[in-house]
Amino acid sequence: MENLSVADRVKNFLRERKDAPYCDDCIAKQLRLKKRQQVQSVTNAIAGTSGFIRSKGLCFDCGKDKFGTRFSD
Ligand SMILES: [Zn+2]
Repeated sequence: MENLSVADRVKNFLRERKDAPYCDDCIAKQLRLKKRQQVQSVTNAIAGTSGFIRSKGLCFDCGKDKFGTRFSD
């Protein structure tokens, strides 16, 4: 687990929570990352690839209406 890149950790996190959208802040919090920007660069990069979708809506965790990313197959 320690050897996984931030990108892999974000992708695994979302895959394990299929169809649940999470905002960048909540992903950063759940993965204990200090910088939300780390998550943002990953979610921007993976959006539209391999089943990852970025759209505005209610975050599954914090419930705020903002941009979040989810995995859907
Ligand atoms: Zn959130």
